Amino acid sequence: MSIKIALAGNPNSGKTTLFNLLTGSNQYVGNWPGVTVEKKEGKFKSDKDIIITDLPGIYSLSPYTLEEVVTRNYLIDEKPNAIINIIDGTNLERNLYLTTQLIELSIPVIIAINMMDVVRKSGDIINTEELSRKLGCKIIEISAMKGTGITELTDEAIKLAKSGIDTEPRHTFSGSVEHALAHIEEACEGLLPKSEERWYTVKLFERDIKVIEKLKMDKDLCEHIERDIKSAEKELDDDSESIITNERYNYITSIINQCYKRKNENGLSASDKIDMIVTNRFAALPIFAVIMFVVYYVSISITGSLLTDFVNNKLFGEIITGNVQNLLVSLGTADWLTGLIINGIVGGVGAVLGFIPQIFVLFIFLAILEECGYMSRIAFVLDKIFRNFGLSGKSFIPMLIGTGCGVPGIMASRTIENENDRRMTIMTTTFMPCGAKLPIIALISSALLGGAWWVAPSAYFIGIVSIIVSGIILKKTKPFKGKPSPFVMEMPSYHMPRVSSVMRSTWDRGWSFIKKAGTVILLSSIIIWFTSNFSWSMKMVENYDGSILESIASAFAWIFIPLGFGNAKAAIATVLGLVAKENIVATFGILYNFSGEISSSGTNIWSQLQADYTAAAGLSFLVFNLLCAPCFAAMSAIRTEMKSRKWTAFALTYQTVFAYLVSFCIYQIGSFATGVGNVIGITISVVIILVFVYLLFRKDKDKIAQLAR
Ligand code: GDP
Ligand code: MG
Repeated sequence: MSIKIALAGNPNSGKTTLFNLLTGSNQYVGNWPGVTVEKKEGKFKSDKDIIITDLPGIYSLSPYTLEEVVTRNYLIDEKPNAIINIIDGTNLERNLYLTTQLIELSIPVIIAINMMDVVRKSGDIINTEELSRKLGCKIIEISAMKGTGITELTDEAIKLAKSGIDTEPRHTFSGSVEHALAHIEEACEGLLPKSEERWYTVKLFERDIKVIEKLKMDKDLCEHIERDIKSAEKELDDDSESIITNERYNYITSIINQCYKRKNENGLSASDKIDMIVTNRFAALPIFAVIMFVVYYVSISITGSLLTDFVNNKLFGEIITGNVQNLLVSLGTADWLTGLIINGIVGGVGAVLGFIPQIFVLFIFLAILEECGYMSRIAFVLDKIFRNFGLSGKSFIPMLIGTGCGVPGIMASRTIENENDRRMTIMTTTFMPCGAKLPIIALISSALLGGAWWVAPSAYFIGIVSIIVSGIILKKTKPFKGKPSPFVMEMPSYHMPRVSSVMRSTWDRGWSFIKKAGTVILLSSIIIWFTSNFSWSMKMVENYDGSILESIASAFAWIFIPLGFGNAKAAIATVLGLVAKENIVATFGILYNFSGEISSSGTNIWSQLQADYTAAAGLSFLVFNLLCAPCFAAMSAIRTEMKSRKWTAFALTYQTVFAYLVSFCIYQIGSFATGVGNVIGITISVVIILVFVYLLFRKDKDKIAQLAR
């Protein structure tokens, strides 16, 4: 028979790191809540009969967030044989709060105090023996990162799981609470599952809705219990939930005082000192802006000129294209096949692959920022600022994840308990430039905007600003009203990023990019090549004139005329971008016959593009493709998370209309500024901007009503 062991603990306590260590798997280790929303199961490396479950990180077993519900249902319904409660040793107080609840579950609990490497280094001392005696369960000191204490932990956990002896809570609440609990237990005699009475009675005392629903209690019983709760509330002059919370904290404080010695009571750790600057009220945002600027500048502009040019010109442009061509010629391949391979496949897929160096450099940077703990700070800093606008910082975690790929970003919105906020976040997350949009940025900025230093970083900031602007505007409309979700988050202390972690996360994200090039992009490239080289009557055409693609594209390209790119090629690229954003560059690669020479300086490619687009049109094209409806994968993630067709349609429409309006203004104003614009365009732009300004700053009637009350 297999044994089930669950890993439970606060977010960022190291559950996933431990899980990977125990199961030998490669789950993504992240620094923010929401990375593990679903539980993950794996087999223990050294004994396949033991199943380990990585549960979502939680601070409490209350029923308020999705993570809490997932974790608690698992623990109650599936009843693992043992729980390893993993605790961040640098943050005992906060972490033990969950512990006091876990040991009430009547499941054997063993505590793993993690991050011991950091604790030891700081010189703090935890008296584990005493703590273990006080809590009534075994404690093992570990470092999931360094891999210390793990064997001892697993040995003990397995022993415990096999013994089946559950952990008896040593802690009792105050007299009045225990009195009420006893009454509740008595009143519910026979209704509560045996051996779990303690957990259920405490939850009933807290008026936990999910538990009341689950027990299907009748009205009389509820009223009866209510009287007991009320009398305890009256005695202690607080609501029942707060009473329990306070008593738990008092209990924890008392044991911590006896078991934990800080080296210097008031001293600041190195991490605190860094935080004083990095999360400083005035410096935080400028520092963030500078860091992101450097990240995008280095990965796009500098890497671009160093590596991408080599890959594009030499590797794909000369070496691969040249050799493949020679090979095909020597084999006596038919012209059309040579065309398909050179222009279709090497041109399309190659154009995308050429951007791999830039994408990998960006991903390495993001992984380092994440791994060292900086990204968590940023979520925290942004939360403080955006709370003023009625937005929740929780929306920014999906956004930060979305800089890698929109799909996990959208999925991370699950951590937001407020339905309205969650929808809003799902709708706006893909405004961030994901890895696949990078090649578009790189191409447009170098070909049409003279490689201007500000283009790449500003793509990032356009994403952020669009999210904020949309957030503020939507928040004032009826479907999105409401107070922003509370945001609690553990700040991991800063640490040196580990090479292995950075590499893993970079590779995970980068590999999916390469995979796409080999599948979706390859297939699209073949289709584009075919439809652009053949007419409806299956005749091969020159220069794309009269091709299938042209006839389709010309039918709707006019839509983009006001945005400055109303030509068939751009229209096709944009539409194919919905399949995968990399397709945009791949399409240009094929339609302009680049054969992989996209970002090389001064070659025919750029001049071809320059002939078709002005700088304003290029920028407008770039922004439209950054902001409009995302790729199919992200659309289906939106559909899954919205759980509603109507909302999905609304989200995609909103994104596309928003993109259209912004690009319209950029093109019209840009053209006007360079002396080629027209009065009608500029007038409409001004009207659009005024409407935006009005929507942004109009008074929120409900808010005024609230204040007046
Ligand atoms: P989860 O949210 O509980 O799954 O936590 P993760 O496993 O994702 O870890 C959160 C962060 O803590 C990651 O950046 C880990 O690298 C780091 N971490 C995990 N265990 C240790 C440890 O023992 N020592 C140190 N210094 N860092 C750790
Ligand atoms: Mg995790």
